[in-house]
Amino acid sequence: MKKTTRILAVLLCVLMLVAGCAQVEEPQATGDPSAPEVTPAGEQGGAAGYTPGTYTATTIGMNADVTVEVTVSEDKIESVVVTNHMETPGIGSVAVEKIPAAIVEEQSLAVDSLTGATISSMAVKRAASDALEQAGADLDALNVPIARTPDPDADYEADVVIVGGGGAGLSAAIAALEEGATVVLIEKTSLLGGNSIVAGGFYNAPDPERQAHYQEERSEALDSLIVEALAEEPVSEEHAALQEAVRAEFEEYLASDSTLFDTPNWFALQTWNGGDKVGDLEVVQVLAENALDSFHWLESMGAGFPDDVFFGGGALYPRSHQSVDPNGTGYINALTGALEGNENYTQLMDTEAVSLIVEDGAVVGVNATGRDGNAVTLRANNGVILATGGFAGNVELRQQYCEGEKWPNLGEEVRTTNVAGVTGDGIFMAEAAGANLVNMEHIQLLPYCNPQTGMLNDSTGTANVKEYIFINTEGERFVREDGRRDDMSKAILDQPESKMYMFASLKMPFEEMTTLGGQPLSYMVENGLSEYGYAETIEEAAEILGCDPQTLRDTVATFDEHASEKTADEFGRVNYRGTLGEGPFIFWARRPAAHHTMGGVEVDVQTHALRADGSVVEGLYCAGEITGCTHGTNRVGGNAIAEFVTFGRIAGRNAALDK
Ligand code: ADP
Repeated sequence: MKKTTRILAVLLCVLMLVAGCAQVEEPQATGDPSAPEVTPAGEQGGAAGYTPGTYTATTIGMNADVTVEVTVSEDKIESVVVTNHMETPGIGSVAVEKIPAAIVEEQSLAVDSLTGATISSMAVKRAASDALEQAGADLDALNVPIARTPDPDADYEADVVIVGGGGAGLSAAIAALEEGATVVLIEKTSLLGGNSIVAGGFYNAPDPERQAHYQEERSEALDSLIVEALAEEPVSEEHAALQEAVRAEFEEYLASDSTLFDTPNWFALQTWNGGDKVGDLEVVQVLAENALDSFHWLESMGAGFPDDVFFGGGALYPRSHQSVDPNGTGYINALTGALEGNENYTQLMDTEAVSLIVEDGAVVGVNATGRDGNAVTLRANNGVILATGGFAGNVELRQQYCEGEKWPNLGEEVRTTNVAGVTGDGIFMAEAAGANLVNMEHIQLLPYCNPQTGMLNDSTGTANVKEYIFINTEGERFVREDGRRDDMSKAILDQPESKMYMFASLKMPFEEMTTLGGQPLSYMVENGLSEYGYAETIEEAAEILGCDPQTLRDTVATFDEHASEKTADEFGRVNYRGTLGEGPFIFWARRPAAHHTMGGVEVDVQTHALRADGSVVEGLYCAGEITGCTHGTNRVGGNAIAEFVTFGRIAGRNAALDK
C-alpha cells in the first residue's frame, strides 16, 4: 500500500475513533450492532458454490492494514489466515487469532466480534468477506445470524468475588487462591488484561542485583537527586523520618564502592515527591517495600526480563525492568497462565458488574449483566474486590473531574491509551456503597503516544534505543526527557502543532529493532507509519523532518557535550547512556494522550475501601488504578504494574482470609 493510502487509512481509523466506535464501545456483545434478527438453527443460508482457490483482501484495522487470505473448496471455507497486521498486542491480536478460527468453525461471517476489540474483529471479517466475494460466495447467506440460545440468568457463590480481569484483578485472584479460597472473577469484555496489557511494560523496583550492571562509575548528576531530596524542609514527621532513613542509607552507599544508590526508602521518597507529596505516604511505602518481592513473584510465574535495568520514561531513576514481551502481554500471560486449570477458580467473560449488593452496611456481592442482558448475581462469602481500573479513556468523566488549570482541555481531541472497557465503573459502585473518593482531579497525559490514535504500542522500546531526545518540528529540544511525565506532556503541548519527535541514535542493527508492540522498525519506516523516519546523517534527518539542518546539528552537539560529561543540561537532564553522534538516526512523531487517573477510591494499606470518616466499608477491597491514594498528582512511570501486583496480592490475600 502506498504511503498516501496508508495515511488515509489511519485518518479513517481516527474518524472512527472520533465517532466513538473504538474507545467507548457497547458494553455487551451479542454480535455486530447492525446484525439482523437471529434465525433458528438449521435455517441459515447455504454458502456453497465457491470457486475453489485462495483469495486475498486487505482492509483497515485499528492501527494499520489487515490482510486476510481465505482458501475455499467448492462447498467449504477451508482456512482463513491473517497474513499481515499491526493490531494491538493482547487486544486486536486476540481478534486476529480468534475471528478466523470462528469463521471456519461456523462456516459463516456472522460470528460475534470480541467486545473490547470490535474494530479489529470487524476488520478481519471485512477482509474475509472481500476475499470470499472474490471466490463467488453468496455474502447474504454467509451473513445470516448464527442461532444461539441466549444465556439464562445465573447465580454464583464464592469466598471471593473479583470485578475486573486486568492486572490487579488477576493478581488478586491468584493470591486468594493461594490462601485456599474459591474465586469468581467477572470481566466486562471478551478480553483479559485491561489497560495493563497495553502498558509500556516496564516495572520499577530497587533491585541491587540488576542495578549493579547499570553504570561502571558513579554519576554525580544522578547522586544529586538524592542530595536535593534530602535538603528539602520536611512537611511532616513521617517525611522527616523517611528522609533520615534515606540519609543513613546514602551515607553507607557513599562509603562503599557501589556505583548506583537505591533502596526501597529512596524509591518511596522519590515516588511521593514525584506526585507532589499528595499520595498517602504509608501506601507509597508499602508499594516501595514490596515491589521487588512482587517482581520476583511475577518472574516465578514465567514473566521474563533482561538482566539489567534502565531509566524508564517518567520513572525518575534507573530502576525500571522492561518486559521481554510486547507491551504488557508478558505480565498478563504470566498471571493467566498461573490461573489456568485451577478448579477453585471461575472466570466469567462478557459479564459487566452494575452494582454492589450491600446488606447492613457490608458489601456481600455483585449484581452483573451477562452478554445477552441476562442477570448474573454473585454472592461473596468473604469479600468483594473491585479492580476495574481508572477513567482516563472516559471523556465525559475526565472532563468533569480533571479539566482545569493544569489540563485546560481534555475533550475528544485528546486521544487516550486506554482500552474500551475501562470506563471508571467500579469507582462509582464503591462510592454508592459508602466509599470515599480522593484525588479525582489528577490525570496523567503520557508524552509518548501516537498523534492520531493515542496508542503506545507503535513507539520504540527504550530498551533497545539507549539514547533519545525530544525535538520539536523545528529541530530544537525543549524539555528534559528524564523528568516527570506531567512536565514533559505540558511542554510538548506548548510546541508547534502540539507534537514532538523522539529522536534517537541507533545502537542496534536496524533490522533487529522493533516497536513496543513488536513491529520491525523497518516496516514502520517503509510504510510511513507514525511518521517514522530513518536517516544516515543529521542533514538527511533535517530534510525528512523539514527543519533547518544547522539547528538540528546544534541541538545534537549541545546534547552530546552534556552526554559525554554526564552533567545536567539547561533543562536539568541528569540521565545519559551515550551520545547521539553522527548517526544513523531514527525518529517518530508523538503527542500526549490521556493515560492514567491517579484518583479513585480511598483505601488503607490493607486495600480496604474507606468511608469519609476513615472507617472501613466492610466486605469491600479495591486494588489497582481504581484506588486514589498512591500516586498523588503525577504517577511515576513504571509504578503502575508494581502497584497492581502488590496491592492486587494484598487484596486477594485479605479478602480470602476475611481480614
Ligand atoms: P488495573 O491495572 O487496575 O488492573 P486494568 O485497566 O488493567 O486496571 O483492568 C481493569 C479491568 O476491569 C478491564 O479488563 C475492564 O474491562 C474491567 N472492567 C471495567 N469495568 C468493569 C465492570 N463494570 N465489570 C466487569 N469488569 C469491568
